[in-house]
Amino acid sequence: MNKKDAKDAVTSGPWAEIDLSALCANYDMLSAAAPAAETAGVVKCNAYGVGMEPAAKALAKRSGCQTFFVAYPEEGAILRAALAGDAPDADIFVFHGPSPTTLGVFRDARLTPVINSAEQAGWWAQAFPSIPCALHADTGMNRLGLGLETLGDINALSGMNVSVFMSHLACGAEPDHEMNARQRDAFAEASALFPDARKSLAASAGVLMDASYHYDVTRPGIALYGASPFSEDERRIKSVITLKAPIIQIRDINPGDSVGYNATFTATKPARIATVSIGYGDGIPVGGSGRACAIVNGERAQIAGRVSMDLIGLDITSLAEPPKIGDAAAFLGPDIRIFEAASACGVNSYELLTGLGGRVDRRYL
Ligand SMILES: *Cc1c(COP(=O)(O)O)cnc(C)c1O
Repeated sequence: MNKKDAKDAVTSGPWAEIDLSALCANYDMLSAAAPAAETAGVVKCNAYGVGMEPAAKALAKRSGCQTFFVAYPEEGAILRAALAGDAPDADIFVFHGPSPTTLGVFRDARLTPVINSAEQAGWWAQAFPSIPCALHADTGMNRLGLGLETLGDINALSGMNVSVFMSHLACGAEPDHEMNARQRDAFAEASALFPDARKSLAASAGVLMDASYHYDVTRPGIALYGASPFSEDERRIKSVITLKAPIIQIRDINPGDSVGYNATFTATKPARIATVSIGYGDGIPVGGSGRACAIVNGERAQIAGRVSMDLIGLDITSLAEPPKIGDAAAFLGPDIRIFEAASACGVNSYELLTGLGGRVDRRYL
């Protein structure tokens, strides 16, 4: 196979058109929503599937983002190398913090740990005394972070230099949930122990909630990538990803004929089915079978039958303009937002985005 054949082969499968200017517009919108705070970019998990390197570079270069968060130190090292040209001195925070085996990665890639436990505080303060770190207080989520009653001891630990004091909301998806205010108030009280540290509480949801959640540094992720952090859609956020795949076969079927594995769709009248080259191996959840839609030539077509690994049937019977082989079907984009597609598939927006398969060709606009 020569180079050209290889490229043609890739285009026979799904692709994602990624609009980096929409990504930066979302950053700018989040920045304007919390004008007194610095807006960091959360780029963990390959920037939620969008691609860490292009996403972080665009945020640094076009929107001036200088602070990033990743989950694992290994992600931080990759990000440090990716930003060498555009933002060599960016602050890169690592949510999971250090372990004895990763301390060298923090040093070599100039990463800032988020300290989540007394053990991590001890390792850090001993290995790199006075080098700044972030401290994560658990204000009720009971996931990562230090219990409030232990903060005084950590603060007093010799060698500790806490430059950012942070916590995380458990119920940001529901702005009216009483736990949000409870966590915010606990955070405010605990932060008095760290008068010189910058404070950080808001992820995407907190940024779009009122100013009492904003503090000094915000940490949006999902909203950058075009999805709502709430349990409803949020139209201030622009679509970033358009996920498309080609129709590779079209067939007419008779009443009583079924489509796909386990014959879960049976035609009740003559029907036309388009078979599309995308499946759960590319991140379309099986839960979308018979429920989720795609846009074909501007019209909606519902998934007929069960989603396969590499193929999906669409019921195109009632489309005014019948598609032909090679036409694209769009499963995500400006007309099918991530929230809608995720809801139809029975997953949340985060799962849908981060589940986008490695086989999907990312094309940056
Ligand atoms: C992932 C994560 C974020 C970003 O959350 P979004 O809801 O995607 O904006 C912020 N803070 C912490 C601690 C996280 O784990």
